Amino acid sequence: MNRRAFLKNTGLGLLGLTVLGNSTLYADSDQRRPPNILFIFSDDHALQALGCYQTRLQDFIRRHQITSTIDRIAAEGAVFENSFCCNSICGPSRAAVLTGKHSHINGFIANSKKPFDGSQWTFPKAFQAAGYQTALFGKWHLISNPTGFDRWEILPDQGQYYNPDFISPAGRKQQHGYVTDIITDKTIDWLTRRDTTKPFMVMCQHKAPHRPWLPPLQYLDILKDQAIPEPETLFDDYQNRATPAAEQEMTIDQHMMLDSDLKVLPETIRNPNQIPGEIARMTAQQRKAWDAYYNPRNEAFRKAKLEGKELVRWKYQQYMKDYLGCIKSIDDNVGRLLTWLDESGLSDNTIVIYCADQGFYLGEHGWYDKRWMYEESLAMPFIIRWPGMVKAGTRYKPMIQNIDYAPTFLEIAGLTIPQEIQGRSFVSILKGQIPDDWRKSLYYHYYEYPQPHRVAPHRGVRTEQYKLVHYYQTDEWEFFDLEKDPQEMRSVYADPEYSGRVLELKQELARLEKQYQVPPLAQKQTT
Ligand code: CA
Repeated sequence: MNRRAFLKNTGLGLLGLTVLGNSTLYADSDQRRPPNILFIFSDDHALQALGCYQTRLQDFIRRHQITSTIDRIAAEGAVFENSFCCNSICGPSRAAVLTGKHSHINGFIANSKKPFDGSQWTFPKAFQAAGYQTALFGKWHLISNPTGFDRWEILPDQGQYYNPDFISPAGRKQQHGYVTDIITDKTIDWLTRRDTTKPFMVMCQHKAPHRPWLPPLQYLDILKDQAIPEPETLFDDYQNRATPAAEQEMTIDQHMMLDSDLKVLPETIRNPNQIPGEIARMTAQQRKAWDAYYNPRNEAFRKAKLEGKELVRWKYQQYMKDYLGCIKSIDDNVGRLLTWLDESGLSDNTIVIYCADQGFYLGEHGWYDKRWMYEESLAMPFIIRWPGMVKAGTRYKPMIQNIDYAPTFLEIAGLTIPQEIQGRSFVSILKGQIPDDWRKSLYYHYYEYPQPHRVAPHRGVRTEQYKLVHYYQTDEWEFFDLEKDPQEMRSVYADPEYSGRVLELKQELARLEKQYQVPPLAQKQTT
């Protein structure tokens, strides 16, 4: 079917829709239908926990087949090795993805009480207006209700792992089961019932592997006897950097909770009302399987009376086992979606994307959580399969950012990219052509302070080799040479050898703030 016939048959042409209208991807003679988009977005999935990224954990992840299916998407498609967020925290990253704009423009600068303004332009709205069917299932975390979706069903706030509540236009309802399975069920159910004459854009957004990292029952013990490699910086002393690195509250040592995070329930708990919320939601049967794993582990832990570094090491191991158990379940459920696409004959014309809202610390610098402009939380995994367009096994080097997703999706669908969008489409990169003027630097700004975790607000610029960070409340700067110091253990801001580079990046920071219209007041703002 050619384009005109497709539009006529689907009614899109009669509605004056712009699907395919501005694209050079699909010529009039093109036999392809506009591609569907399956956007799978998890929460806090660090790229260190993916077998398709070359990190310290790659061998371990592969050996234990934690992300085999997601790695298959990468093998059949491509991986972006330099993919970054603009503000490393859940809600703001989601707002940047939806709008293609930095936090100070889309208005959602922190996970605060101020809801996302759903009346503004978002890419799902553009898809919906163009005749795509649009749907969203799972984690939303933007306070206001979703807009731009024909159907949506979301978790309230952070959501729960076991027997979670969901909110839809019909109200709030609890459902039995494990959250990652349920979100996938809802996605597949919608896909199965959708109008097959129209293209779709569906966002399948997982809660996992967000804190407090509750794996499904079948994966509680998969890494029980395994020693997970420790990061070299697990016992970072925060010397040679600005003061905020030492003043945060997100260390595995001091701030990771034994009860709610590590599932060591105090022996004295007998009253079910005192059990931490996530575990209290379990049925008696679920709780039995849960206790069968954690109770003997906790008993051994109490007997060992660990202290100091040994206690940190134990906490790191348990944290990682739970975190990776959550991810293996995501991987299974990604597999269910890929199987559904195959069985429905849609794999060839559906673009599959797997990414997460930001990076995460898996013990690096002694931390869990995110927020910083340091590499582990700045980096976002981005994996894409686009049959016929992206060459299998491609590794892309150019720097992309989450504000680029919206314009990229628009170009993929042949839709007009509004002038006001701050990100840039990377479709030409996907097709193997890097534009001469592709970004050589990116802008970052984190606002949320003081709680939780007391990470000082900062702004900065990253290039391929260097990073400049400004903690403006205390007017402290950091500068890293990422080639010589990839773990960012030594700021060379005051090193005369780098004074020229520092000046260059300060000028670049000023240029980017002008380009992105960063208001002077936002630089002083706290939440
Ligand atoms: Ca997140």
